[in-house]
Amino acid sequence: MDTRLVAAAIPIFMILIAAELVWARVKGQRVYRLFDAISDLSCGISQQLFLLFSQAPLLAAYAWFQGQYGLVEMGRSLPVFLLAYLIIDHQYYWWHRASHRVNFMWAAHVVHHQSEDYNLAVALRQALITHITSWPFYLPLAFLGFDVFVFGIVYALNTLYQFWIHTELVGKLGPLEKVLNTPSHHRVHHGINGRYIDKNYAGFLITWDRLYGTFEEEDEPVVFGITKPLRSYNPFWANCHYWVELWQRCRSLPRWSEKLYVWFAPPEWRGQGEARPEAWPQSPDDQVKFDTESSPLLTRLIQIVFAGLSLSLIVLILKGPAMPWWDRLAAVLTVYLLLWTITWGQRPIRS
Ligand SMILES: [Zn+2]
Ligand SMILES: [Zn+2]
Repeated sequence: MDTRLVAAAIPIFMILIAAELVWARVKGQRVYRLFDAISDLSCGISQQLFLLFSQAPLLAAYAWFQGQYGLVEMGRSLPVFLLAYLIIDHQYYWWHRASHRVNFMWAAHVVHHQSEDYNLAVALRQALITHITSWPFYLPLAFLGFDVFVFGIVYALNTLYQFWIHTELVGKLGPLEKVLNTPSHHRVHHGINGRYIDKNYAGFLITWDRLYGTFEEEDEPVVFGITKPLRSYNPFWANCHYWVELWQRCRSLPRWSEKLYVWFAPPEWRGQGEARPEAWPQSPDDQVKFDTESSPLLTRLIQIVFAGLSLSLIVLILKGPAMPWWDRLAAVLTVYLLLWTITWGQRPIRS
């Protein structure tokens, strides 16, 4: 994806988040909590900065595979873009399904699901390495002969589409619900209600869920989050916590077969001697959301620092690729350190 496109999209995302905030106020709903949203955006900033190092090699590898093994030269006509979009959307479904059903992939994707709120900021809550776990799923496009430019455009469009569906403010959309992934369908995907878990994996077309038997209608209030809450706003712990949990389970499991299997098992699997998962809330009324307390002065200071970090993200996206490698690394590590500082030291109100 063109870095200038990403830099241009950031202010648009911010404007839409502000609009959602105002719309919610008008409707008398509270859909944002400041520090939860800062945590979401911190995950997004960390991921975008990591892309400064990891995106180019992945795109180069894609281009190499397409050059070496591509079946035909697909070209860049409109039908080619449409076909590529359809295929990438299908591949997204399977990557997403695997990301929920295979522990080591869930360890990466879990970041997107940790927020206990549901708003446009959650759309930007992305894991550091999901573009690495998803890359092999998109290789069929290279083998079919779609060039890296076409791949980059349809991948970006598929990702951008999913921004607006992260909102509680849009209800059901009539006939569109039959074909498209909508806010209602994606709320189900973020739900931890028993009937909603592992449902609605779609990116753009909900058709894939209907076809492969994973579709669920939204017909009871959604409890957002993960079954074992993260209880932290730190973006780096958000990216590590499930890896740490898997490693601890791997060490404590008695059989070698289970030590290996735990990385590939579905998240609900438990080995010999392991405790069953604790029950989690099935209604929003029963959910006690994680929250922290902060003085008005500290809150204002954090808002100012965070606004500065968001601006530095735009500058780094634009200038980063041309910077010397060490300068880029130093700038990114500085932003990471500041993100760590403003999200780590907060005291939980309830624990
Ligand atoms: Zn998911
Ligand atoms: Zn989502």
